Amino acid sequence: MDMDRNILDDDPATGFGKLKSDILDKELCTGCSICTVMCRLENIAFDGHPVMRQECASCQLCNIVCPRAGEISSKLQKEWDILNRHALIRSARSTDEGILNVCQDGGVTTSILWYVLNKGLINGAVVSGVKDLKPVPMIATTYDELISSAGVRYSPSPTYQALLSDSRNGNMRNHLTRLGLVGTPCQVLALRNMQMPDLEGAVLEPSDCIEFTIGLFCMEQFDSKLTEYLKKKMDMQNAKKFRMTRNGLIISFTDGSKILIEHAEIKRFIRPNCRICTDFTSKYADISVGSAGSPAGWTTVIIRSEIGRSIYYGALRGGFMVENPKSPKTQIIERLSSKKTERSAKNLIHYAERTEL
Ligand SMILES: Cc1cc2nc3c(=O)[nH]c(=O)nc-3n(C[C@H](O)[C@H](O)[C@H](O)COP(=O)(O)OP(=O)(O)OC[C@H]3O[C@@H](n4cnc5c(N)ncnc54)[C@H](O)[C@@H]3O)c2cc1C
Ligand code: SF4
Ligand code: SF4
Ligand code: SF4
Repeated sequence: MDMDRNILDDDPATGFGKLKSDILDKELCTGCSICTVMCRLENIAFDGHPVMRQECASCQLCNIVCPRAGEISSKLQKEWDILNRHALIRSARSTDEGILNVCQDGGVTTSILWYVLNKGLINGAVVSGVKDLKPVPMIATTYDELISSAGVRYSPSPTYQALLSDSRNGNMRNHLTRLGLVGTPCQVLALRNMQMPDLEGAVLEPSDCIEFTIGLFCMEQFDSKLTEYLKKKMDMQNAKKFRMTRNGLIISFTDGSKILIEHAEIKRFIRPNCRICTDFTSKYADISVGSAGSPAGWTTVIIRSEIGRSIYYGALRGGFMVENPKSPKTQIIERLSSKKTERSAKNLIHYAERTEL
């Protein structure tokens, strides 16, 4: 048995061996954790990155859903290119004081989730909470749980782990259905890969439990070593909020003080997988949200799909948020999108040289 396991796990042409040699060994893993949920044998554990724990049946599912495993399917690309052509772009903010106190920008993300939960349109929201400054995936089912997840963590959240519940026998699947999900562009792409019908036309489980996605704009994420670095540099116990700005990372503390850490000091902590990523606006999300393009205290919102429109306008009509009469500055979003694509092209050359592809 052990012999078989080693052969399959170590084979770079198939199964987990392929995921390891194509993604993990090349530092391309985004830490989305969807492969752990995908493995029907529940064989992939997650410890900052996927780890094989038993035999691999070489079914390839983990390779199919991985957002870094290659080109996205042309069908997916076509469908979303059409939706993107008709996308609406708005600036909005929450009307709820509790949300405004803790949110990152205008609190649109948490307000939309609160609206759909409150109306019973979903049973829960897959979000990223926080513990010891680290993102912790969770399924929020109440207002208080949503409040605890608002704001931003700049290190990867293994969001899809929320679909698994711990058990002494390993990770068991959660049975909640009708969920909303908040994720970075790579996490949203992972979900779309999972939602693409397989060769027999069946949609892969558990993607069918996700009703809609809110995708975050994203320029980059930082390795968890950044948190350790900051903890050594200053007392982080009362750190309340993190905000990446043009000048660097601003950390706000509970006593009202703020510290700016310049980009030059922390850029070495940017994750290698982010340096070659091209999607800034979460272009496969039903609704995308970011700060770019809107004034402080407002969220820029891109609404792409029918379900995206329905929940965005439902939340507006229900008084959960208000729109800014001024449209977001789209040229800022376009500039940042181009910057990300250019950075990726440049780093892909370095990357190919380094890994001798
Ligand atoms: C890593 C990262 C990088 C970003 N980079 C940019 C950028 O360059 N430019 C830009 O305009 N906007 C960026 N954003 C988005 C922006 O910071 C806000 O999240 C967005 O404007 C929504 O604000 P809000 O007030 O509506 O969100 P809130 O109502 O505060 O809700 C925030 C949501 O984000 C989720 N979340 C927090 N951290 C993570 C994480 N690590 N992974 C997955 N989900 C998480 C929470 O679960 C919560 O649901 C980034 C977000 C992240 C997480
Ligand atoms: S999903 Fe399939 S290929 Fe991947 S680890 Fe599990 S059994 Fe192996
Ligand atoms: S990017 Fe996601 S799916 Fe790919 S190896 Fe990493 S955790 Fe698994
Ligand atoms: S930059 Fe790309 S790979 Fe990195 S977290 Fe953002 S979407 Fe994921």
